[in-house]
Amino acid sequence: MAVTFDAHAHCFPPLGLDRGEAQYYDMCAAEHQYHVRFHPQGVRRSTDSSLISLQKQNAILTGEHDGISWLPDISFRVGKFGRLEFTHEEQDYYMQWMPPSLINMESSPEYLLAQMEYAGVDRAVLQHDRVYGHLDDFLGQCIKKYPNKLVGLAQVQEWRAGEPDQLDRLKHQVLEQGFRGVYFSTGGFFHVDFNMNVNDSSLEPFWSLVEELNIPVHWYAGEYRNPMIEIHLRELEDFDVWAKSHQNITSVLTHGLNTISMLKGQPDSVRYKLPEVMVRLLKNQNWSIELMLHLMASDSPYPPYNSNLDNLVENLINEIGIEKLMWGSDMPCCERTLSYKQSLVLYKEKCEFLTQDQRDLITGGNLERLYPL
Ligand SMILES: [Zn+2]
Repeated sequence: MAVTFDAHAHCFPPLGLDRGEAQYYDMCAAEHQYHVRFHPQGVRRSTDSSLISLQKQNAILTGEHDGISWLPDISFRVGKFGRLEFTHEEQDYYMQWMPPSLINMESSPEYLLAQMEYAGVDRAVLQHDRVYGHLDDFLGQCIKKYPNKLVGLAQVQEWRAGEPDQLDRLKHQVLEQGFRGVYFSTGGFFHVDFNMNVNDSSLEPFWSLVEELNIPVHWYAGEYRNPMIEIHLRELEDFDVWAKSHQNITSVLTHGLNTISMLKGQPDSVRYKLPEVMVRLLKNQNWSIELMLHLMASDSPYPPYNSNLDNLVENLINEIGIEKLMWGSDMPCCERTLSYKQSLVLYKEKCEFLTQDQRDLITGGNLERLYPL
């Protein structure tokens, strides 16, 4: 029986609560504020729920330049019912970041497992993005409790990943707590105003340790700076340079394909095109891509029935091969757009050119090779 294995899900305690050393408001909130500044969910005024322009959204959430040094104080905070809240010039605003059903902003392992059973999902990789907090202990307990269901990705402070305390942190997460991969977001470079990239020599001790531990890296090209698409493609170039000099490390590009979201408003022929640099990157031997297409085309009435996505999957197979494609849902974020089960429809029912074996590889078989039971 083929395994259905999700490359992208989240467990987290109620966000924003004080959790000792792992305080959301210490560091994570600033990154969160920056991370959502262009978010397609948009920002609404709390008084009348009216949507503000993307320009105004960006202007309120960030300062004159990119990076933490220019981040305005807008009392950015976690609300309820899936909302992030903040105050600018005495006016309250919110973003419906998660589905409204996320009442107290919590995704416990039991909640995720109930969702997985309902959707027919056997296993899931828990991505460890800092917007959810420093969750080493929390996620460590999740994967210890449900080792056959949940795979955990470690987290480090990417901008100082080569320093001894971060190396120790990774070792502890992998060797003591049972994490099986590491999540590496370039959004972390926000903390040093983007004065470095993944090829910075200070990170070499980190990559050596990753290779020694023999764990995959799940990459997030998360700088999100203007000009968005140019910066994003430059990030993929950086990854390609990195890939050529770290050929023994297995890698997964997450949030694929981000370009579809960034090019919203462009003609379909531009928006749904595979960027040349992405193809080049994914042709590196140990690279795969997580397909989160339903959220990248979230403005479609029903993304699985957007035929541009079928074509894109077909192009990916022709260009880089079926064995490099891995479905990822982004639960519970997923449910602000469609249900967990519907995030599988494109690969399980649509894409008529796929054989049953190919469907099984995209929806779990390929990921299972990385994380066998
Ligand atoms: Zn996510």
